[in-house]
Amino acid sequence: MILFKRSADLRKWLIKQSEAGLKTGFVPTMGALHGGHLQLISACQAAADLCICSIFVNPAQFNDPKDFEKYPVSTEKDIEMLTRAGTDVLFLPAVEEIYPNGDKDLETYDLGALENVLEGRFRPGHYQGVCQVMSRLLKLIRPDQLFMGQKDFQQCLVVQHLIGILHLPIEFHTVPTIREPDGLALSSRNRRLTEDQRKNAAAISTALRFIKENLAPGSNDATLRQASEIIRKAHFRTDYVVLARTSDLEPIKTWDGQEKAVARIAGLQGEVRLIDNMLLN
Ligand code: AMP
Repeated sequence: MILFKRSADLRKWLIKQSEAGLKTGFVPTMGALHGGHLQLISACQAAADLCICSIFVNPAQFNDPKDFEKYPVSTEKDIEMLTRAGTDVLFLPAVEEIYPNGDKDLETYDLGALENVLEGRFRPGHYQGVCQVMSRLLKLIRPDQLFMGQKDFQQCLVVQHLIGILHLPIEFHTVPTIREPDGLALSSRNRRLTEDQRKNAAAISTALRFIKENLAPGSNDATLRQASEIIRKAHFRTDYVVLARTSDLEPIKTWDGQEKAVARIAGLQGEVRLIDNMLLN
């Protein structure tokens, strides 16, 4: 694996690969890697000639500075995992490399309703921050294909929207969520859970499965209330338990039995905020 810390060096190398006719796939991450990330790497390897991964904990997307400070970092172990997985390139930039002018001249992107719904509402500014880092990474790497996890469902929609705004010819792939045997979605944040919190955390996926099993045409209010009860009993402080249209995350009040729907849950287990979702049909 080749490790690049400087954008200019990576760009020079990428130009050579593109001249040789090689197709690149890109997997952006914030490190503290786990099996979910490795699933993205392997999807990327299956589809592209070269798999480029980045690790960058993007300060611009943390609306809560405490969450940023406590974000787990395990760079040496990450490098080992990526090497073992056969990743071709790791881009590991410092903050100044991505934001040479600090927080001056940051762009604002028109994300429409996606910006303020659900995660956008609970994490103001989060998706603008995601777009700031993703626009820089995508313009630098110019991958043929981009791989992101369904675990961050809204982020997938936002980045697809951003690719449209930037007019970049990138094929977007959404990779299914990898879970622990008890259903908990793998997440870097799981490392911050105590033993008890870790046991409770599986209730989110139990609640999502409950919604999936009980989805019926008409109002699903009673099902959502019972799902909320499942996570409340597991000591979650709930941010939301909702049913939404997969295309634009518009909440579904009355399901027509046809519309593609996703159930989404976010809540806090102690200080650790967890999110998950499940496609329902
Ligand atoms: P992060 O490092 O948390 O920013 O995640 C980097 C990428 O990995 C994002 O596209 C996430 O959606 C994806 N990802 C995170 N957790 C999982 C998971 N459990 N299964 C599949 N992909 C995941």
